Amino acid sequence: MEREKTAAEKDRRDAQRALEADERKRLKEQEESEKIKRKEERVEKRLAREQEQKKNADEKRDRGKLANKKFTCGVCGMRGRVLDESKGIVWFECDEKVCGKWYHFECLHRSEQDYLRESMEEGESWYCKACKPWLYCEE
Ligand SMILES: [Zn+2]
Ligand SMILES: [Zn+2]
Repeated sequence: MEREKTAAEKDRRDAQRALEADERKRLKEQEESEKIKRKEERVEKRLAREQEQKKNADEKRDRGKLANKKFTCGVCGMRGRVLDESKGIVWFECDEKVCGKWYHFECLHRSEQDYLRESMEEGESWYCKACKPWLYCEE
């Protein structure tokens, strides 16, 4: 009788221990999965950061490329760069694809300057007189 009780108690203890071991295993697995999740989040954040940096670098490079690109003024024939804007020389590009000419604002005809100002205010395209002369017909 006494042995049976002990055996029963042992079973109970074993069951309890198995239960605790299961619980520990569950906790550990949970901890592991949280660790993995945190790691994935870190990786994602880093990727997003790298992408952002790459985008910024691309934009900077594009700006630099444009700033250094050389233009010939469609009127005076002087060569220059958009970078010249820091020296007060402002360039404008005709929005007609086949034209692609650049102009000093100062070199443009008065009517072209007016139209350019207007189109910039309206956020519209601007075309030089050579491309679309009818836009400049005097009323
Ligand atoms: Zn010019
Ligand atoms: Zn043009």
